Amino acid sequence: MKAILVIADGMADRPVKELDMKTPLEASHKPTLNQLAKTGVCGIIDPISPGRPPGSDTATLALLGYDALKVYSGRGALEALGLGVTVSKGDIAFRCNFATANKDLVVLDRRAGRIATEEAAKLAESLQKIRLEKPVRTSFLFKNTIQHRAVLVLRGPGWSTAISDSDPGEVGERVQEIRPLGKSRNAVLTAKVVNELSSEFRRVLENHPVNRNRIEQGEPPANIILCRGAGTVPQIEPLSKIYRINAACVGATALVKGVCKAAGMELIHVSGATGTFQTDYLAKAKMAAQALEQCDFVLLHVKAPDVASHDRNVRQKIEAIERIDNMLSHLLKNVDISSVCVAVTADHTTSVLTGRHEGDPVPIVIAGSNVRRDDVAEFGERSCAKGGLNRIRGLDLMPLLMNLIGKTRIFGA
Ligand code: ZN
Ligand code: ZN
Repeated sequence: MKAILVIADGMADRPVKELDMKTPLEASHKPTLNQLAKTGVCGIIDPISPGRPPGSDTATLALLGYDALKVYSGRGALEALGLGVTVSKGDIAFRCNFATANKDLVVLDRRAGRIATEEAAKLAESLQKIRLEKPVRTSFLFKNTIQHRAVLVLRGPGWSTAISDSDPGEVGERVQEIRPLGKSRNAVLTAKVVNELSSEFRRVLENHPVNRNRIEQGEPPANIILCRGAGTVPQIEPLSKIYRINAACVGATALVKGVCKAAGMELIHVSGATGTFQTDYLAKAKMAAQALEQCDFVLLHVKAPDVASHDRNVRQKIEAIERIDNMLSHLLKNVDISSVCVAVTADHTTSVLTGRHEGDPVPIVIAGSNVRRDDVAEFGERSCAKGGLNRIRGLDLMPLLMNLIGKTRIFGA
């Protein structure tokens, strides 16, 4: 037996007035999800704990069976891992933005006019050449990713993540000096080094030909690097060791890929999977079905419902859910349901009304030959609450799935 877990990011929601007090999931046309509900067991999940809104990183850790409250160590390193950057034990990583600031270091544009990736790459190449000797000799990696986004990794050991961000998070605010949070020597040193590095970055960016050209073209120069989310790689046992399984992830979002990488999963690249609304759903379904031939466990992640929710776009969210339903129908045609356990859930609730992650539970369905079917016939937030799984925590899901496919060990004699 094998298992596939489909995570529709932020799919769960709250009742919406213009949908007659239904949620977008309840209001969408979803024959495949309903079919899974009919043939499976349903329930609801508190990704972390009741009422606590999770990020995609902590929720995915939980859905993979880890206690996120204990092992989570910041977003930066996970994102870097997901982008293919090596982050070792002791290294710390930050998420960075190329941004535009004025002479007084007031942020004018947090994305430097969404600078083109090619231009950002030229800037990053120059920044990587900086040699920092003060206050200590430091080895670092600076890598641009997509448009204005980048990662910074300080090679360890000796660093601390107990430092503040330089990114003020808003336009019109001054770039923050990074401060140690607490008095640890490592935190004080880390703050100093990142501040020093940031001012070196500024010096190089100021006179860079790419920026001179941008100013000539009337575009905002990328003259500052904003850092946030200092993190380390969580020290967790890989799934292969915990359950003796081969596991793989099909997804495009760097953060989720990073969590999967930290869990020792293989990352499968899908051309056409973009982590946006235009993602190629069918290519993902095909890759996931293929991956199942080699692996015991596959996580298939789709970001689109979360994007629509953050944009507070009800119609787009419904469309994303309907496309996921269609993706699932292709998936089911390509896997042998008698030997594959199929689970579908969301990593958290993202409300189209608030545009934020909320702490409401999410629906779950597990279908497969070993499950005890319940009477739920529709996949939705309210209908699943009546299901046979009742209400479980995120970290309970993986043991449940592994039990169904015979990968758990007996506790006791
Ligand atoms: Zn998420
Ligand atoms: Zn989100």
